[in-house]
Amino acid sequence: SDSSLRAGLVGRGIALSRTPAMHEAEARAQGMTGDYRLIDLDERGDIPLADVLAEAEADGLDGLNVTYPYKVEVMALLHDLSPNARAVGAANTVILRGGRRIGHNTDLWGFAESFRRGLPDAATDHVLLLGAGGAGVAVAHALADCGVSRLSILDSDGDRAASLAAQVSRNRPGCAADAVNDAATLFAGKRPNGVVNATPMGMAKLPGTAIDTDLITPDQWVADIVYFPLETQLLASARAKGCRVLSGGGMAVFQAVRAFELFTGRPADPDRMKATFDAF
Ligand code: NAD
Repeated sequence: SDSSLRAGLVGRGIALSRTPAMHEAEARAQGMTGDYRLIDLDERGDIPLADVLAEAEADGLDGLNVTYPYKVEVMALLHDLSPNARAVGAANTVILRGGRRIGHNTDLWGFAESFRRGLPDAATDHVLLLGAGGAGVAVAHALADCGVSRLSILDSDGDRAASLAAQVSRNRPGCAADAVNDAATLFAGKRPNGVVNATPMGMAKLPGTAIDTDLITPDQWVADIVYFPLETQLLASARAKGCRVLSGGGMAVFQAVRAFELFTGRPADPDRMKATFDAF
């Protein structure tokens, strides 16, 4: 409604998510009341996702964010999809209105906006994407939207890399995507302009990097979507070489910026939402 934001986040293990604080603070700053609830199915037991959506509708929520592990499962419960949610095959935002449920994928726009703002004028002729899982699919489409004309995709599960390459080439004809199984071989030829990590490598609980950082040189830019910690081993190593780097914080903030706009119909202030994110 006009003066309130009523929404929530459905997922597992989400107690430490910064998304509720970003939405509630933004709503308050705009003079609205903000009620953004955590629906952690680790704590609520095995309620079917369909019941969670029905309850949100009965409570009059404007919508829900959906996170791990429900972004694909939720698709079957929706009436319509945005073009991006359809392309990615996953929704992280559901708008509830007039008995209808519309799925969106704001992870895609979130990465693209973070990239455009954080690495302006980055060369995009050829990019290496590490990780073809849930987030990697959204990031691959976002990179195509940012002008990447050739996208090489590396995943320890080669079938995933190959099927994402086919998906992106189909959905984004301006981007030629291919699967690779060895970064050293790729770098031995004409090297990519940039590297994006969308594997979980580098998370506090999973230290390390998905490629040998010796391969990276100062002329390349490096982005990570892992944001706990913000400075992953990959980014620290690239920064030390003098590479331009982009952390995963921007994607986390901008997915929320776009979701706020979808929930409320009002623009959100990205700097204000980032300040809330950074306050943690
Ligand atoms: P996922 O498990 O769905 O996919 C990860 C993929 O990486 C898998 O396909 C796996 O095979 C591959 N992989 C793992 N280790 C690898 C390695 N060493 N080399 C090559 N491939 C490897 O996970 P996800 O949901 O896609 O999330 C990935 C990461 O992105 C997580 O750390 C998550 O926190 C982060 N993430 C960040 C944001 C953000 O807003 N910044 C949003 C979503 C996810």
